Amino acid sequence: MFDVVVVGGGPVGACAAALLARGAGGAALRVALLEPAPPAPLPAAAPLRTRVVALSRASERILKTAGAWSRMPPERVSAYERMRVWHESVAPDSDAVLEFDAADVGEPNLGYIAENQLLQWALLGAFAEAGGHLEPASLESLEITDAGVGVLTGRGRLAARLVVGADGAESRVREAAGIAADIAGYRQTAIIATVATSRPHEATAWQRFMRDGTLAFLPLADGTSSIVWSADDEVAARLVAASEGAFTAELDRASDLALGATRLLGARASFPLRRLEAQHYVVQRVALVGDAAHVVHPLAGQGVNLGLADAAALAQLVRAASAAREDPGARGVLRAYERWRRSEVALMSTAIDAFDRWLAHGAGPVARVAQHGLAWVNRSQELRRFFIRRALGTSGELPEAAR
Ligand SMILES: Cc1cc2nc3c(=O)[nH]c(=O)nc-3n(C[C@H](O)[C@H](O)[C@H](O)COP(=O)(O)OP(=O)(O)OC[C@H]3O[C@@H](n4cnc5c(N)ncnc54)[C@H](O)[C@@H]3O)c2cc1C
Repeated sequence: MFDVVVVGGGPVGACAAALLARGAGGAALRVALLEPAPPAPLPAAAPLRTRVVALSRASERILKTAGAWSRMPPERVSAYERMRVWHESVAPDSDAVLEFDAADVGEPNLGYIAENQLLQWALLGAFAEAGGHLEPASLESLEITDAGVGVLTGRGRLAARLVVGADGAESRVREAAGIAADIAGYRQTAIIATVATSRPHEATAWQRFMRDGTLAFLPLADGTSSIVWSADDEVAARLVAASEGAFTAELDRASDLALGATRLLGARASFPLRRLEAQHYVVQRVALVGDAAHVVHPLAGQGVNLGLADAAALAQLVRAASAAREDPGARGVLRAYERWRRSEVALMSTAIDAFDRWLAHGAGPVARVAQHGLAWVNRSQELRRFFIRRALGTSGELPEAAR
């Protein structure tokens, strides 16, 4: 019997599994991880992948604790030092642009941009090194009883005391455990692509709020940038179908040439955007983490950061229970996890939705106040520091692994 079976080896599940399997402080837990499609390693010379994530300082610390950070080659990971955020009503070089600078809070950078695949691969390596068992299979169903939980896969049955559902937004664990989710579409689609820009990115993340969406340029380690363009569905459909030339012309218009002219490198990918909140994060012997529990709008680049903090919080509580010779699937442990993380996630997703509603789509007086608010925040060093600490993920109730 395993202590814990984690279902889904995406960044969040692999992180939970690695943290749980590392033996420091008490007996090591017996942990299995179910992942039907583990990623291939990225050869050193491979071009950077299109799908990237922004990792906060809190996430960097969690990844160090999990043993994954040192597995991510520094030449593929880009530290960003500044963020520039502005509304389309002002020019990208105007004084009304809100600038966050790591130096304002005495930090070397605000976080890192890394490929999703590299992150997942590094975490799976850390999990294997910690003695965890990887099962290359998909979950089919769960048998939950007072004594434990049976995990049925295409390859057989595993028994555990706790199942962690880290199988993403379409979570099979959530469904098998009978947990409903509130889902609402944003009527927006995110387009992602890698672009070359005629001006250097200056280790800065650039973000422009427009009436019909949000456009971010994330600085990559090789000098190119990754764009995340969240646009209303009709606009996005047109942009995805456009020729390369027409797309870059639209991109140059939408960026107001903040980084000069752009050139597409490789294909565009697109994702419909929605908000998802599981009605419970836990039921008897089951806990949900990451996108299985909550999906937020990508405009603040917080999806993976929230999930890694879930993984660290759950691992901390489960390991403490196990060190005290308690059942890791006990109700008290799971309820403590739910109370802790639900409130942190609610705070972040409400703030993200307010940005989307007022800045990216706002009209009328409320929107104008919000737009002037950017310039106003820019004038106050205290407010700027407050937002920088939020972005670094170093405020709020932090798991030990993130401190
Ligand atoms: C356009 C876009 C841009 C984004 N940008 C950012 C960003 O800059 N920063 C950020 O923090 N977040 C970002 N996000 C969000 C981020 O990608 C997600 O929050 C993150 O991938 C969630 O990780 P996860 O491990 O919970 O789920 P996933 O990454 O979805 O992983 C789920 C895993 O479960 C496995 N699985 C699925 N079903 C089963 C099954 N039945 N049995 C076993 N395994 C299964 C899958 O193979 C997969 O490996 C972005 C999202 C989008 C759409």
